[in-house]
Amino acid sequence: MSYWESETFLKYPDIAIIGGGIVGINTAITLKENNSRLDIMVIDRNSFPLGASTRNAGFACFGSVTELIDDLETSSEEDVFQLLNDRKLGLDMLRKRVGDQNMAYENTGSFELFDKADDNLSTYKEYIRFLNARIYDKIGFKDTFEAREKLDFPFPGFADFNIYNKYEGQINPGKMIQTLYNIASKLGIRFLMGHEIKEIFEENGMVNITSSNFIIKSRYAVVCTNGFTKHIFPEINLLPARNQVLVTQEIPNLDWKACFHYDKGYIYFRNIGKRLLIGGARNIAKLNETTTELDLTDEILDHLKEFVHQKLGISPDFKFEFQWSGIMGVGNVKNPIIKKYSEHIILAVRLGGMGIALGTLVGSKAADLLLSENI
Ligand SMILES: Cc1cc2nc3c(=O)[nH]c(=O)nc-3n(C[C@H](O)[C@H](O)[C@H](O)COP(=O)(O)OP(=O)(O)OC[C@H]3O[C@@H](n4cnc5c(N)ncnc54)[C@H](O)[C@@H]3O)c2cc1C
Repeated sequence: MSYWESETFLKYPDIAIIGGGIVGINTAITLKENNSRLDIMVIDRNSFPLGASTRNAGFACFGSVTELIDDLETSSEEDVFQLLNDRKLGLDMLRKRVGDQNMAYENTGSFELFDKADDNLSTYKEYIRFLNARIYDKIGFKDTFEAREKLDFPFPGFADFNIYNKYEGQINPGKMIQTLYNIASKLGIRFLMGHEIKEIFEENGMVNITSSNFIIKSRYAVVCTNGFTKHIFPEINLLPARNQVLVTQEIPNLDWKACFHYDKGYIYFRNIGKRLLIGGARNIAKLNETTTELDLTDEILDHLKEFVHQKLGISPDFKFEFQWSGIMGVGNVKNPIIKKYSEHIILAVRLGGMGIALGTLVGSKAADLLLSENI
């Protein structure tokens, strides 16, 4: 590095944040808001964040009935409702920081849909009362889930029975991240984009952060690389989970606005204006989708397209104009990892499938861990 670079672009910061998605950028903003003297640098491997935060479906959601039932089978009641509470809190914090207009937030409501042949509809109905009571106790939302016996949408492939949640909505994740970057820039947070970090370790009380081009040293580092974390710390209990997404061209008679969950959240769809966005189905090829490669596969795309034609009744004449994949970070439990990895390195990763709701809170908790060190 040149002397000039060492004094400017590559000047060692007090705190380096690795990964500039929703968690990294919110960690940086919270730190700076609490201590304006801190020199903070966000480092990302891409010229803009490229993992999940700009590649998701933009559901502002906190959990569907079948997903919560599923979670209750693998986690304690306390953990399930604590996570739901954290998603709600995180969403409130995000809305306050970004502003609803700046991320096109709309409280459209959401619907969970079921197959006509689903034998468990009565079980879901029974669970609604229990879930509503627990949610009311935990976060004060009244009658969150509402059983409906009539489907008010032109989708031929589902049972009439569906479950409405009036508290969920949708955002534009691109606008959200762009606004967060604007806030961070105004606060004087520095960015080093387009540098993949290969190794992070502590030496003589400093954190060494190496890419193929340079070493940055900082007093502290916060690792916010979510689904990609194993490339740096292979021993962490976290797996990548790719999700593929399709968006159609505008469909003139698409006149509904809402978010939809299906199959425990494995398939999700919504409108973007008059377009349809659909994604998910990684459960049909889970091994293949346990990857950090941002590729697309015919198996998943064909499955999603068939779903659109058969279950939503949308004609194959309407073309899919966008297709992409993003990478989530998942584990055998759903709560995120927010902890000290070593004396000066903090991990804030494993956001799972509702990281838009959770991300601002996770960033704030990671920042609090550092601030409690009297940095
Ligand atoms: C297709 C899809 C749909 C989703 N839909 C929703 C939804 O509707 N609602 C919802 O709440 N959640 C959704 N999620 C989940 C949500 O998007 C994520 O949980 C959340 O964005 C995670 O944020 P993050 O900051 O932890 O990770 P990311 O946004 O993945 O950010 C990690 C950053 O780290 C960078 N990075 C990685 N490795 C390195 C390295 N070695 N060196 C430097 N930089 C590195 C990456 O470039 C990336 O920018 C979805 C996810 C996907 C993939």
